[in-house]
Amino acid sequence: VSTPPVTVLGLGPMGRAMAGAYLDAGHRVTVWNRTASRADDLVARGAVRAATVEEALAASEVVVLSLTDYAAMYTVLEPAAPALAGRILVNLSSDTPERAREGAAWAARHGARHLTGGVQTPPSGIGSAEFDTFYSGPRDLFEQYEDVLKVLTGTDYRGEDPGLAALYYQLQMDLFWTTLTAWLHMLALADANGIKPSEITPYAAGTLGGMEQFLDFYTPRIEAGQHSGDVERISMAVASLDHVVHTARDSGVDPALPAAVLETFRRAAADGGEEDSLTRLFEVFGRGAA
Ligand code: NDP
Repeated sequence: VSTPPVTVLGLGPMGRAMAGAYLDAGHRVTVWNRTASRADDLVARGAVRAATVEEALAASEVVVLSLTDYAAMYTVLEPAAPALAGRILVNLSSDTPERAREGAAWAARHGARHLTGGVQTPPSGIGSAEFDTFYSGPRDLFEQYEDVLKVLTGTDYRGEDPGLAALYYQLQMDLFWTTLTAWLHMLALADANGIKPSEITPYAAGTLGGMEQFLDFYTPRIEAGQHSGDVERISMAVASLDHVVHTARDSGVDPALPAAVLETFRRAAADGGEEDSLTRLFEVFGRGAA
């Protein structure tokens, strides 16, 4: 197994975990961060602190970027652009598919090759094959460096379009943020009624754990455009959500989140979907803003 040198630019919680994983795997690791002190622990573990971005780029062919977004990449790399030629940029910063495409084209203009990545674990999962990172970009590049990428997480190559990894990542984030936000709303509603988070969370975990059967049941029906209300109807959902909104209001809890969901179901009902299944929302969302 080859252990090529690796440079990590960006030492937030993720970048620090990544640089640490490369050190543990025996790579020579060069690090650079805007706030240089964030490298201290890594340097104590054997990483080399680059004084400048140019120096960091010169140290390794493989350059892992773990920055807040693509705008930060331009801020960091543009002044050092001549040093980009021949580098492999593994960009694990989150952003939109379009910005990932632009970033890949920008890298190519400077003679660098670009792999987009979307990491699906918090820092605690870096170094574990249990979690996957979405990758997209040139297939030959991904295959050539897959062993190096696998030091961080498992890999899930989505295709040549540099936007794809970002897209798959954003799709997961769409689900992640709304789901966790719903859980936090549930905690606040419980709390307003004297029920502690630790008391209600096992019930939340049970409900979330049971979601897979809903996904399995509804997915083929959605693909077939089959939205009949044989198991549940939108009119029932509207009534149920109205109860949730009122329970929140009566408890002094902000009802805006379930109210927004209620509003979406009302749109589906007004659109002639009253007797249809909740999956009708798939089409309502797909038609764009109300
Ligand atoms: P942070 O935002 O905490 O860290 C980002 C890094 O970007 C820091 O090193 C910061 O430098 C640097 N940075 C930001 N703006 C600039 C700038 N204008 N110029 C120079 N450097 C800049 O992010 P994380 O480490 O948490 O995550 C990194 C990426 O990974 C993000 O895109 C995030 O969405 C994604 N991600 C994060 C996960 C998580 O659980 N944290 C999980 C999955 C993906 P400085 O230290 O100087 O501020």
